[in-house]
Amino acid sequence: MQILDGKAVAAFHRERIEQRLDDLHERQIHPELAILLVGSDKPSAMYAKSMCKVACSMGLKAEIYTEPSTVRETELIAMIEHFNEQPSIFGILMMMPLPSHMNATRVINCIDPRKDVDGLTDKSIADLFTGRPGFVPCTPRAVISILDYYHISLSGKEVAIVGRSNVVGKPLAQLCLNRNATVTHCHTRTRELSKVTQRADILISAAGRAKLIRGDMIKPGAVVIDVGINRWEGKTVGDVDFEEIKTIAGAITPVPGGVGAVTTMMIVENVVCGTKQTE
Ligand code: NAD
Repeated sequence: MQILDGKAVAAFHRERIEQRLDDLHERQIHPELAILLVGSDKPSAMYAKSMCKVACSMGLKAEIYTEPSTVRETELIAMIEHFNEQPSIFGILMMMPLPSHMNATRVINCIDPRKDVDGLTDKSIADLFTGRPGFVPCTPRAVISILDYYHISLSGKEVAIVGRSNVVGKPLAQLCLNRNATVTHCHTRTRELSKVTQRADILISAAGRAKLIRGDMIKPGAVVIDVGINRWEGKTVGDVDFEEIKTIAGAITPVPGGVGAVTTMMIVENVVCGTKQTE
């Protein structure tokens, strides 16, 4: 069984992105990433911190702007509008989830689509679904990058995706369709999940449920991509029961060190790509 090493994929992209950042700095362009964090959601705070650390280590200025969960929607929107107008800011990353008193769709859509580095605005989504160039959400991009790095073709393959969120599952399905895969989308109402997953040449789980995918749910030799990040007995684990699956799957992404490692790199790349729009 092959381990699909996210760290190796991230390192491969890192070199190219750093080169591009160096070129920009030489031309006195210093792109910045604004990360907006509202409330006290622990995974979001950890993700924001690690995102910031990686970006800064690559020479991209990144800053976390923290607001309490009691912040008013109008105040948050005013912050976004301020970042929209700042010429040095090329990327705005709104950490999700937002507190329940806010309308997340309304807030997200206040981000200037040219700075929407996580591809969450309606404009970015429409671009993805109609095949126009634009920002693609970073986690789905990371999954495709891993498959590309290991020369795993999607064309004609049966792909099962577990999870249908707007951030991961849905855009990922579209990216797989764009590569001519036959995609089956699973979710909490899917009957007999294992019947679908057993058919998949490539199984991608983005459910956020530890040990959801067991050994008897996969086809021997399948490629398994584990997007989930969960806490289980004090450890960070994915959705896949790694121990059960490792003797059955053909290839698998570990957690940690899989998709997450590549996602942060995709954000930095999107910020750097955003600078093209000013050239
Ligand atoms: P979400 O909660 O918005 O969506 C989860 C989806 O999984 C839902 O569509 C739900 O229908 C489905 N689901 C949940 N339990 C299921 C079950 N038992 N059977 C079938 N379907 C089920 O979550 P999200 O934002 O899409 O994130 C999913 C997971 O991916 C989380 O663990 C999150 O932490 C992780 N994540 C990882 C990265 C990364 O870079 N690795 C990035 C974003 C999210």
